[in-house]
Amino acid sequence: MYEGAVQDLIDELGRLPGVGPKSAQRIAFHLLAAESADVGRLVAALQRVQAEVRFCVTCYNVAEGEQCRICKDPRRSDDVICVVEEPKDVVAIERTREFRGRYHVLGGAISPIEGVGPDDLRVKELMTRLMDGAVTELIIATDPNLEGEATAAYLARLVGPLGLAVSRLASGLPVGGDLEYADEITLGRAFEGRRRIDA
Ligand SMILES: [Zn+2]
Repeated sequence: MYEGAVQDLIDELGRLPGVGPKSAQRIAFHLLAAESADVGRLVAALQRVQAEVRFCVTCYNVAEGEQCRICKDPRRSDDVICVVEEPKDVVAIERTREFRGRYHVLGGAISPIEGVGPDDLRVKELMTRLMDGAVTELIIATDPNLEGEATAAYLARLVGPLGLAVSRLASGLPVGGDLEYADEITLGRAFEGRRRIDA
């Protein structure tokens, strides 16, 4: 619709989550009219996250080094892994102080509508971690919505043959919501009252 650089910018913005074509166009023209110092700060912030922030090689949480601080912490127990969708869910669960094991960040949830399948998530990597036998319990803490439930059911079936204790966070979490929006007490209770899934 537009020429060259402007259209490229609109296309790139439109690929961001939650940014539709109209918003992409509005942001693009906002940036075109903006002061060059403002645009410079945005570019610098994008370059910094690219250069400095990465994902933990073990659990895929955000990390400043090879491993995140949770994976590096020797006081945490290796026999239980809590599976979450995004790094922000790790933050939400850490706030409850109910969990002292390790995490595994899937990078999303299964969603046929958005074309996200198990191969798009870090499921293989989770299976690899479970193979060495150190882990005896898996807590599935995906979001309490359709995609989160589908992902939990899929994982429970997949790991069933491994003979681990598999549990899902208890009810009480707002249905259809996002883990990060649950308050600490509700999320803490859901953790304590987690239900065993028999695959
Ligand atoms: Zn980690």
